[in-house]
Amino acid sequence: MLKTSLFKNLKKKFNQNSCSICLKLFKINDKIYEIICDHIYHIDCIEKWFILNNTRCPVCLQEDLVANLYIMIKILENKEDSSKK
Ligand SMILES: [Zn+2]
Ligand SMILES: [Zn+2]
Repeated sequence: MLKTSLFKNLKKKFNQNSCSICLKLFKINDKIYEIICDHIYHIDCIEKWFILNNTRCPVCLQEDLVANLYIMIKILENKEDSSKK
């Protein structure tokens, strides 16, 4: 699982108040993922983005190596699952 934070104390830590993928505002206690470049997204949104696109930040295109590894493992696991059926 990607390391997530709960969305809190927006102004202290983050300079974003909405997710650039779904364009919704973050709510307190939303699960968010903070990319290496400090951009933040809903964990569900960024996971889908990583799988469908690549593990670059949708906004600044910086590659997140932690996510890269995580997604590679996840895709491999999915392949194994589907070959068992
Ligand atoms: Zn989102
Ligand atoms: Zn970024």
